[in-house]
Amino acid sequence: MTLLDTIEDIVANLAIVTAYLFFTNQLILKNIELGEKASSIMIWKVGFAAGLLGILLMSFTVHMNGTLLDFRQLALIIAAMYGGIYSSLIAAVMILAMRLFAFGEVTISTVIAASNTILIALAVGAVCYQAFSYRKKWIYSIVICNVCTAFVFIINVGEQAVFPIASFVVMMTIGGLLTAYLVDFLNKANVQFKRNEKEATVDFLTGLSNNRSFDTKYQTLLQTAAAKGECLSIALIDIDFFKKVNDTYGHVNGDVVLKQMGMILRETARAFDTVSRNGGEEFSVLLYDTPHEHALGIAEKMRQAVSKHLFELTDGTSLKVTVSIGVATFPYTSREQLMEQADEALYKAKANGRNQVCSNQKVAVLRP
Ligand code: GH3
Ligand code: MG
Ligand code: MG
Repeated sequence: MTLLDTIEDIVANLAIVTAYLFFTNQLILKNIELGEKASSIMIWKVGFAAGLLGILLMSFTVHMNGTLLDFRQLALIIAAMYGGIYSSLIAAVMILAMRLFAFGEVTISTVIAASNTILIALAVGAVCYQAFSYRKKWIYSIVICNVCTAFVFIINVGEQAVFPIASFVVMMTIGGLLTAYLVDFLNKANVQFKRNEKEATVDFLTGLSNNRSFDTKYQTLLQTAAAKGECLSIALIDIDFFKKVNDTYGHVNGDVVLKQMGMILRETARAFDTVSRNGGEEFSVLLYDTPHEHALGIAEKMRQAVSKHLFELTDGTSLKVTVSIGVATFPYTSREQLMEQADEALYKAKANGRNQVCSNQKVAVLRP
């Protein structure tokens, strides 16, 4: 066994860890943010997946001058980082079960190795529950693995433990730091991906759907309504004289009004309605399976809720604002005409004096 063979073994083991992280990231880990509490189902998934990794690493031993070492502790740390103490314990129990199954009879050294695995799982699990920085969690976990494993060597082989301990410490530290880097990289990539995904669909100011996700939802709901023979109503909402709000109270207060407007519309709409900010001071609500009269009623409720609300500005000033709303309903209005009709109804509401709900389909004008 030459040094080159040992290096080969270490590289093979770290390649297993890298591939494992890549695949489990896609399947499980991308749904957990490091440092956040994992759900019970996630705790089980993370523990089970890490248990499999531990078993794999246990069978791919690193041969070092007659001593057999392995990286199974890395699986325990990964489990603890993502799922906490329960995940690392699940992984430890799986590793132990496999070891027992593979080696059969229970000897003193099996018991010592088993206690060591459980102890490390508990200790790294406990470290990950502390409010330490990510870096500290890894350093403490690597130190725990090194110290516990060193004791096992001393108990098993006494004075001859110096070389195996030194080899293990070097191997575990390199493996641990590399895994720490990979886990951190994947976690940052996941967080950034989720943020981009959210920003692509959510309006940053109000937290409502943005125009892009409105478009997608609108097309989908129209198709579903057409296929099922159900109706789809749309309410287009525009704040009255909003330019005046900006001119009088400033753009920042304009934004404050937009934010509160988003909240009122979200609260007044039903949970399953899609409320969007389509741009500027224009909002919309998609009312699925809602007949025209019913949609007009909901729009009127929204108009009243807005007109009663006292918008609180940055300096504590209270302001009243009104909205005009245009409503149109498919299939009374064709798919192609729906948006246009809602827009025309909105224009009518503006022309009729604002602060009202209008429709083009019937002579329906709901006045305050
Ligand atoms: P109308 O009753 O006819 O709708 O009058 P209006 O003043 O509300 O309509 P107009 O289209 O003339 O003005 C809309 C204003 O909305 C102009 C623009 O400065 C403002 N606005 C658009 N987007 C934003 C934004 O994100 N924040 C703020 N504060 N103002 C915005
Ligand atoms: Mg407008
Ligand atoms: Mg306006």
